[in-house]
Amino acid sequence: MNFKIFNTAKWKLLLIVVFKVFLQKTNAQNYPQNYFRYPLDSLPSLVSPFGGLRDNHFHSGMDLRTNQREGLPVFASADGYVSRIKIQSIGYGKAIYLDHPNGYTTVYGHLQKYSGKIAEWIQNYQYKNQTFEFDYVFEKPVLLVKKGDTIGLSGNSGGSSGPHVHFEIRNTKSEKIINPALFGIIPFDTLNPVIKNVFVYNFVPDGLLLKQELKINHQTIVATNTPNQFIYKKALELPAETYGFGIEAYDYIHNLTDEKGIHEYSLKFKNKLAFSHTLNQFAFDESKYINTHIDYPFYKVAKTRVQKCFIDEGNEFSTYQTNALKGKILVIKNTRDTLVFEVKDFNQNKFVLLIPIVGLPSKIDKEKQDYLKSIKQKKAFYPLKKNTIKNKDFLFELDAKSVYDTVFYDFEVLPKYKTSYSKTFKIFNPTAPVHKAADIAIKPIKVKTEYHSKLLLAHYFDDEKNFRSAGGNYDGGVVKGKVSNFGHYFVTIDTIAPTIKQVFINTEEALGDSLHFYFEIKDNFSGIGKYEGYLNGEWILLDFDAKSNMLTYHFDKIWYNLVAQNKDSKLKNGAIIKPEVLIRVTDKKENVAEKSFIMPIAFE
Ligand SMILES: [Zn+2]
Repeated sequence: MNFKIFNTAKWKLLLIVVFKVFLQKTNAQNYPQNYFRYPLDSLPSLVSPFGGLRDNHFHSGMDLRTNQREGLPVFASADGYVSRIKIQSIGYGKAIYLDHPNGYTTVYGHLQKYSGKIAEWIQNYQYKNQTFEFDYVFEKPVLLVKKGDTIGLSGNSGGSSGPHVHFEIRNTKSEKIINPALFGIIPFDTLNPVIKNVFVYNFVPDGLLLKQELKINHQTIVATNTPNQFIYKKALELPAETYGFGIEAYDYIHNLTDEKGIHEYSLKFKNKLAFSHTLNQFAFDESKYINTHIDYPFYKVAKTRVQKCFIDEGNEFSTYQTNALKGKILVIKNTRDTLVFEVKDFNQNKFVLLIPIVGLPSKIDKEKQDYLKSIKQKKAFYPLKKNTIKNKDFLFELDAKSVYDTVFYDFEVLPKYKTSYSKTFKIFNPTAPVHKAADIAIKPIKVKTEYHSKLLLAHYFDDEKNFRSAGGNYDGGVVKGKVSNFGHYFVTIDTIAPTIKQVFINTEEALGDSLHFYFEIKDNFSGIGKYEGYLNGEWILLDFDAKSNMLTYHFDKIWYNLVAQNKDSKLKNGAIIKPEVLIRVTDKKENVAEKSFIMPIAFE
C-alpha cells in the first residue's frame, strides 16, 4: 500500500481515533475475568475506587472497605509467589506484592501484620538487617501462595487515614497500574454519576480565565426522552472565540452521600469527540499529571477539583483522546451547536448533559485586557524548556518537564532576618503546580564548620511565614535541595534533638495481639531520620508509624528469651528483674536523642 495518499493530518487523526476506539472496546476482553478473587471475605465494597483524584496523584488502586476495623484476613487474590515486601512508616505501610503466572502482580497495602511463613521470613530479615523499614524484591520464588491463602491481616499502617486495604493490580513487566474492575472486581452499583458544575474557560496567552460557572441542578436542567440524559434549559451564549470546559463530577457507588471519583468522561461538540478521558491504566510516573488534569489554581483556592476537558501544553498523561485542538472548542458567530458532556462509571451507569450553545459576534474582552496588563511586569517560567534564576547567592532551576503552562511569579530578594541563616528568596506563585521538583541552592552566612551538617532549607507560602523544613544539605559553600512549590526560601539550622516519651495506651483489641511498649517520638524541624531500640543491649525490632509518631515494641523472641533465661536461673518467686530498653532517635540533621527505660518484671 502506498502510504503517501493517506499522509494527511486528517487521515492520520482519523486512523488514530479509530485505532484508539478499537483498543478501548477490546480492553475488558483482554483481561482475564474471575482469575483474581476479591481479597477479603466479603462482597466487593469500596471506600475509594481506582483513579480517584488525590493530592499530587491519581489513586493507583482500590481501597477495600473493612468497616472501620483492623485485623480482617487478607487473602492472596490468585496463585503466585511473594515478589516484593515493602515496609514504610509512611506510604503503603506494611505492603506485600504477589506475582502471578499470568503476567500480573497484585499489591496489598496498609496491613496490620503479615501471616504465617511470610511473617517469619520478614521478622528474620528485619533482625538480620536490624531494620523495621525495608524494600525487598525477590529474584526468584521463595514464598509461594495459593489463591485464598491468608497473607496478612488488614490494618491502617503507613499513610492510611482509616482502616482499609489498598489493593492494586499491575502489569508485572511494565509495572503499569490497571483498574482491578477490568478483571471483574466490581462492586454492585446502580447509581449514576452526576455532573454538579460546568466551568467555561477562556484562553489568554499563557493562561486561563474562568468565564462562567454553570450550576447543574433541578432548576437549571430538564430530563430528555433518553434515559439519564438532561438538557441545560438556557442556551450558553459565547462571543466567537476559543473556549475550554471543565466539569465537577462525582460517582456514587453505595449511597448518594459518599462522593467518589469518576471513571470516565467525555465532551462532544458538533457530534464529534472533542475530548475524552478514561482511567483504565496508567504508569506511576504519570500520576502527578493530576495537577494539570484538574484546574489546579481553582483547587488551591476553592478546594474543589474541576476536571478539564482540554489539555495543557505540558500535559503528557496517556489517558486522553482529543480533537486537533486538544479538547478546546472554537465558537463561531451566528451558529448554534450543542455541547454533550458524558460521565460514566464502570457499571455503565451514566449521566449525559446537553448544553445548547450560541455563537455571538466577538467583542473586546475587558477581563482579558486587564489580565494581560497585570502580567506585563511579571517574570515567567515556560513549559517544555529549562528555566533558571541565578545570582551570586542563589540558584533555582526547573527542568523541561517542570511546569505544564507558563507560570508567572513574583521575584524578590528579602534581607536576612534575625534567626535565619541567609537572605530569603521569593519566587512566588501560590497556585501554580510543579511537576518535577526544582533544584535550589542558597548561600548561607558564614557558620563554624561543625554546624555545616546542621544547615537546611526552609520554605513558606503564606504571609504568616509559617515556615517548614524543605530538607537539603550543605555542599560546597551552599545549601542544596529540591522543592515542589513556588514560595519563599531561606537557610536555617536544626541543632535540636528529637524527643522520646513512653506512653501507655490500651489498643490491644485493635492490634489483636498481646504485649507491647509504646514510645512517642517527635522532632521539631528536620524530621525523624533513624530510630533504634535495644533490650539489655540487644537490638529489638521497633514498628514505626509516622502519622501517629509512635514506636512500638511488640514482645517477641528477644523479650521472651530474656524472661526464660531468668526463669532458668531459678529466680525465687517475688524476685524482680529490671531489663533496660534503650531508645535512640536521630533526626535528619544528625541530632541524636537517647533515653533508657527500666521495665521491671516480677516473677510469681
Ligand atoms: Zn488506596
